[in-house]
Amino acid sequence: MYVVAIENEKCDGCEECVNICPVEVFKLEDGKSSPHKSDECAYCLSCVEACPNKAITVTEM
Ligand code: SF4
Ligand code: SF4
Repeated sequence: MYVVAIENEKCDGCEECVNICPVEVFKLEDGKSSPHKSDECAYCLSCVEACPNKAITVTEM
């Protein structure tokens, strides 16, 4: 299982992570991305690479 975390203050709501995640982990809430389906993460790390602000971390539990 993986845990997806976003440093809220770094997120500018660009939606890159929302658009790139193959399993739709992210959704935008109040202009910030939220990893609302973190438990479905496939650990591809596309979101980590795509985020221009390095706001996302994905860790294995
Ligand atoms: S690592 Fe891949 S599957 Fe997991 S949240 Fe990021 S883009 Fe989605
Ligand atoms: S890619 Fe990064 S800055 Fe853009 S919405 Fe996702 S977490 Fe926020």
